[in-house]
Amino acid sequence: MKPILFIIIPCYNEETVLPITSPLFLEKLNKLISEEKISSESRILFVNDGSKDNTWNIILELSETDVHYAGISQSRNRGHQNAVLAGLMEAKDHCDITISIDCDGQDDINAIDEMLNQFLAGYEVVYGIRSKRETDTFFKRYTAESFYKLLNWMGAEVVYNHADYRLVSSRVLQAFSDFREVNIFLRGLFPLVGFKSTNVYYERQERIAGESHYPLSKMLSLAFDGITSLSIKPIRLITGIGGIIAALSFAGVGYSIVSHLLGRTVTGWTSMIFFICFIGGIQLICLGVIGEYIGKIYLETKQRPRYIISERTKNLMFHKN
Ligand code: UDP
Ligand code: MG
Repeated sequence: MKPILFIIIPCYNEETVLPITSPLFLEKLNKLISEEKISSESRILFVNDGSKDNTWNIILELSETDVHYAGISQSRNRGHQNAVLAGLMEAKDHCDITISIDCDGQDDINAIDEMLNQFLAGYEVVYGIRSKRETDTFFKRYTAESFYKLLNWMGAEVVYNHADYRLVSSRVLQAFSDFREVNIFLRGLFPLVGFKSTNVYYERQERIAGESHYPLSKMLSLAFDGITSLSIKPIRLITGIGGIIAALSFAGVGYSIVSHLLGRTVTGWTSMIFFICFIGGIQLICLGVIGEYIGKIYLETKQRPRYIISERTKNLMFHKN
């Protein structure tokens, strides 16, 4: 039996890119079908992430032109991670393998062949790794690479230079669906699911058209989410810093007592102000970090749905009945 492949493609305001890249995805799928590597039941599943432009209409039109195109639409914009998750969960009961890939042509679709070969060789998770990031600006490359190093240092296991271009078998997805957390950082979660995994290398291309939706602010928030979702090291660090500060404070207490006994109590104004400010500052930072985790706990306890699908293309409807 040939495996059924679902290619999961998140799209947010991509009306300029989709008409260019969608035929490329179809061409790749048809080639794999004709080479008998995958079943003709395979699909290209677009996930419209609450786009404000014409993206969903383009997806609907595509699904009318070829049965291999399918789509789901989220009821609003929830961000790239939730869009990929919605696609994976939609696909998992209808296919044997999923590959998630960006819709802007930055992830080289030719790596799909190698990913499939690795799947056929027995690997259930295949990470696409950027071999070079020359098309990214120096700033983006530097910040992104530092982020991977920081995450690993924090104790979160992430694959270096892997974003969300990845093959995952439906067996792994079934296991993954038991991870019920709301704050998701997919590239850090799949290593936790386990199963046999390997890497495939590809060159990151430039965006074919349109603009990136990941400005610095969103990148920072993804980085922060990644760290706080996967690691409690910041809290440990706070405990460590707290210990050091406490030791310093005790030394300060000793110093002030000695000064008092020596009758030099008027001096010390500078050090007092210094300690008040310094400790006050440290406490605020610590409270902030702890608050961040409490905020996460709050969001998790509400157990809100992680995505809401409002529409499906017709060729997906029958799956749901
Ligand atoms: N994307 C999404 N929801 C968002 C932002 C982005 O589904 O809120 C999709 C986008 O359409 C693209 C992928 O996620 O397919 C990566 O986004 P983008 O190319 O803007 O980011 P970059 O490659 O610059 O990091
Ligand atoms: Mg991109």
